[in-house]
Amino acid sequence: VSDLTPELLSVAVETPRHTAVGTLLDYHHGQRLPAGTLVQVPLGRREVPGLVWDRPADPAPRPATVRAVAQVLDALPPLDADWRSLVDFAAAYYQRGVGELALAVLPPELRRLDATQLARRLGRLPAAADAAPAAPPRPLLNEEQQAALQALQAEVESAAAAGRAPAPLLLHGVTGSGKTEVYLHAAESVLAAGRQALVLVPEINLTPQLEARFAARFPGRVLVSLHSGLTPAQRLRHWLLAHLGRAELVLGTRLAVFASLPRLGLVVVDEEHDPSFKQQEGARYSARDLAVWRAHRQRVPVLLGSATPALETWQRVQEGRYRRLPLEQRIGGGAMPRVRLVDMGRLPRPGPGQERALAPALLAALHERLARGEQSLLLLNRRGYAPVLHCGACSWKSGCPHCSAWRVFHKGDRTLRCHHCGFTERVPRACPECGNLDIAPVGRGTEKLAEQLAQLLPGARIGRIDADTTRGVGRLAQELAAVHAGEVDVLVGTQMVAKGHDFRRITLVAAVNPDAALFSSDFRAPERLFALLMQAGGRAGRDAAQAAASEMWIQTWHPQHPLFAALARHDYAAFAAQQLAERRAAGMPPFAALALLRADARTPETAAGFLQAAQDAAAALPEAAGVTLYPPVPPPVARVADVERMQMLLESPSRAALQRLLTAWLPSLHALRAGHKGLLRWAVDVDPLAI
Ligand code: ADP
Ligand code: ZN
Ligand code: ZN
Repeated sequence: VSDLTPELLSVAVETPRHTAVGTLLDYHHGQRLPAGTLVQVPLGRREVPGLVWDRPADPAPRPATVRAVAQVLDALPPLDADWRSLVDFAAAYYQRGVGELALAVLPPELRRLDATQLARRLGRLPAAADAAPAAPPRPLLNEEQQAALQALQAEVESAAAAGRAPAPLLLHGVTGSGKTEVYLHAAESVLAAGRQALVLVPEINLTPQLEARFAARFPGRVLVSLHSGLTPAQRLRHWLLAHLGRAELVLGTRLAVFASLPRLGLVVVDEEHDPSFKQQEGARYSARDLAVWRAHRQRVPVLLGSATPALETWQRVQEGRYRRLPLEQRIGGGAMPRVRLVDMGRLPRPGPGQERALAPALLAALHERLARGEQSLLLLNRRGYAPVLHCGACSWKSGCPHCSAWRVFHKGDRTLRCHHCGFTERVPRACPECGNLDIAPVGRGTEKLAEQLAQLLPGARIGRIDADTTRGVGRLAQELAAVHAGEVDVLVGTQMVAKGHDFRRITLVAAVNPDAALFSSDFRAPERLFALLMQAGGRAGRDAAQAAASEMWIQTWHPQHPLFAALARHDYAAFAAQQLAERRAAGMPPFAALALLRADARTPETAAGFLQAAQDAAAALPEAAGVTLYPPVPPPVARVADVERMQMLLESPSRAALQRLLTAWLPSLHALRAGHKGLLRWAVDVDPLAI
């Protein structure tokens, strides 16, 4: 058959990972097709979408029969070399198949359409805007903002002169320091030059706000969003507009880093430290890291914005690889709130049978706010009423039968709910073990805190925002609107309220019980806590008039902890230096590269057995030199929905060495799997966020 084929093509298709088939397959077609062309090809008995890919220099021996491309969807201009190299890099780095990743990051709808349908969709798209109307008036930049933009311009020019990529720029400023205004100005010059800007934000919830701001600044320009909250048709339309170069601004969540942008001129990653930029399933990629890689490869500037940069980013600033552009003043002169640490250990003990949610001084401060008609925000990172129910007679606890976790007591609907697998039952009237009627909630979640506040602050309007109160489309926006409208005096919420939302009337923020993060087994927990508290504090006193009185309260048993000391001075640099010293001493990122191999099975023995065999296979490879392989261990919650999970950590001071081992080793695991019956799946996570 192959003798008759004028053109042999490599096609990236989505083959299931567990088949040992590589993801670049050979097909033939009557004529040459440019790389990046969307096609349909036969695979087994099905027809699947594929992308014509660059032919490897040494293609694998071709099978005896090469099948023909079934359909060419050439109404779609081919995905360009920059896009393909981003996918090639990401697939190699995160250890996935090229085809698997390439197809997974296309809009799902694109894979379903045939040539006719696609042509019709393309025909219906709006044309590019002709002449952009004059930009509306915009604020005069302050000195720091001007300096940041000048530094950006200078970096772009000197990089171009030297024939290198501009260094990534860290726009380092707290909420309200004018970062977004800098993004807008940077985008403006990029658009004026006829190029596209890509702006990434951590959460879908943050897109409408930002989209409105960009749309108002650039009337007449085509601006699209890309995130998982769009309908399939919208997502396809937006993606196509970007791919055709008609959308000048693309704003989106992590998946937007893979948008096809033929005229990319600027990349912005807002709140670059946010863990949401890391995809947690499938190809576990970091959109922040890929954004930096992409900008570097395409030699366009990348702006990373944050008040509390990721320690990885900060370390690169220290090494001179990234440049820091400080924004130290808040616009309008607002100060950061005064931080007040409450030493819980020095409070008088509450009376017998009583428990204390809030220190008396904090309660008094809340009363004061109420009297002045100001709002307060209480942060508690635990939803539900109480994390566990307990029987005092027989010490039964409300465990989940399917997970190694407690079921949480939700008082509103009187249920016990597992937050890992969702298993829900009505609360038993009596202890299921011994019949004792006196089963009691232990600990406190947002539901209980809100209830206690209603008693402690009679007459106050208490609001609560967490994942339970915001189920359903538009609920979060509604609840936030109520806060903005002044319908809430005291808002109780999980970390979900601390992100990005602008609460101008809040003058007091309190972290009710943040200590768990100080001693967590997760080495990134302090970093996340610091970022959360800085961000939450940044919500307070955005109005200069109120800023003088705005406060951030921390209830802690460890007031001496360096994290709180740095927070009290709003001193990110000191916190980062202390954390980086610890990380360096412990050989943790950013001073070491990590990867996790995870295995899921019906029994822990099976999962551990597979990981151990995998480890033995790795240890036998020459590439294992310089890489430490740790024994398989269960993650903090080992069993979820009756699946036993185990994981194995790989660590190396050299990222390249770790990559070489993974590349040499992982393909052999497909075969290894066969010998471990009961193994459900395995996966690798490169640069895991939590270990
Ligand atoms: P950030 O992104 O750091 O939170 P923003 O860019 O949103 O900060 O700025 C905070 C507020 O100040 C916004 O309402 C913005 O419109 C306004 N602002 C920003 N820069 C200026 C400026 N130079 N002059 C006047 N107002 C500004
Ligand atoms: Zn009991
Ligand atoms: Zn469960």
